[in-house]
Amino acid sequence: MITGVKLMVDRRRAEKARNEREYAPIEHPEAVQSLTVLPLVDYLSDHPEAKTEPGVSYLVKADDFTVLLDVGYNKKGEHPSPLLHNMNLFGVNINDLDAVFISHHHLDHLGGAREQKNHTFSISHGPVDFPSIPVYSPLPLEHSSYNPNPDSDIRVSLDPVKIAPGVYGIGSIPRALYLMGYTEEQALAVNVAGKGLVLIIGCGHQTVERVIERAQKLFDLPIYGVIGGLHFPVHGGRIMLGPINLQALVGADRMPWNSINENDVRKSIQAITDADVKLISLSAHDSSDWSIDYFKESFGSAYRDLLVGTPINI
Ligand SMILES: [Zn+2]
Ligand SMILES: [Zn+2]
Repeated sequence: MITGVKLMVDRRRAEKARNEREYAPIEHPEAVQSLTVLPLVDYLSDHPEAKTEPGVSYLVKADDFTVLLDVGYNKKGEHPSPLLHNMNLFGVNINDLDAVFISHHHLDHLGGAREQKNHTFSISHGPVDFPSIPVYSPLPLEHSSYNPNPDSDIRVSLDPVKIAPGVYGIGSIPRALYLMGYTEEQALAVNVAGKGLVLIIGCGHQTVERVIERAQKLFDLPIYGVIGGLHFPVHGGRIMLGPINLQALVGADRMPWNSINENDVRKSIQAITDADVKLISLSAHDSSDWSIDYFKESFGSAYRDLLVGTPINI
C-alpha cells in the first residue's frame, strides 16, 4: 500500500513538473548534412564478436561531431565492459568523442547498479582515460573512480540545450515509475538537412508521445526518425527475476496488475504514425520480441533493425 501512495504522490509531482516546463521555440535551428547512429551497446547484434546486454550506448555522429548517448549496463562489472569491448571491436576510440549525453540515471544507461546508486557513470570497470569533454545529464552526476577527469565539465540541466550545430537535447520529461520512483529522462534531437529531426531516445520512460510533443513545440520541423528505447516489455522482458518481468514491473507508472500492455504499444505507434515519421528503429534492450514484431508489421519499410555494430545512416 505504501508503494501505491508513493506512486500517486510521484505521479502528481511528475504531472505538475511537466505542466510547468514551457520552453520558447528554438529559432533558426542549424542542420547537419549527415547523421549516423552506431549502437555500441544494446540487446541484439548480428556480429559474432560483439557483446550484447540489456543496456544502451549509441555513438551518434552528426557531421564531424560525435556524441555518445549513454554508457551501457556492464551488468557483470567487467573490464573491458561490453561497451569498451565493442568500441575496440568497431574501431571507436574514447578520444573520438566530443561529448557524452546521459539520458537518465538508470543502471542500464550509467554503466552499472553501483553507478545508479551513487549517481556516477562508468565506461568500464577498469581505468579509462576519459577525455576533457562535456557530459550532459538531467540530474547531478559525477565520474566514477574508473574514468575520473576533473577537467570534464558535467553540465546538469533539465532544460533543452544546444550541444553542437544541429544537435540538441530536448530537455528532460519526468515520469513516476512503480518502485523506481520519480524519473527524469532527456532525449537527443538531430536536425538533418532536407529531412527533419531524428529523435534518439534512451529508455523512453517519458513516453514517445511526450517526446514527439516536446520536439514539435521546440522546433518547427518534421520528425523524420525515432531511434532507441521506448520501453515496451509486453509479453516478455529482458531482465527477468525468475518468472517476474522486472522491466514491466518497475517501468510502468501504474500498479503491477495494470502494467505496460498492448494498448500502450498501440497508442505509441499511433502517435509515431500521426507525426508521419519516416524511419523508426526500436531498441530491444527494454522492448520484447512481441513489441518489435508489432513495430515491424506497423511500419514496414520505414522500420530498421537496431543491432550492435550495424550503423543506421541517415
Ligand atoms: Zn533502459
Ligand atoms: Zn530506464
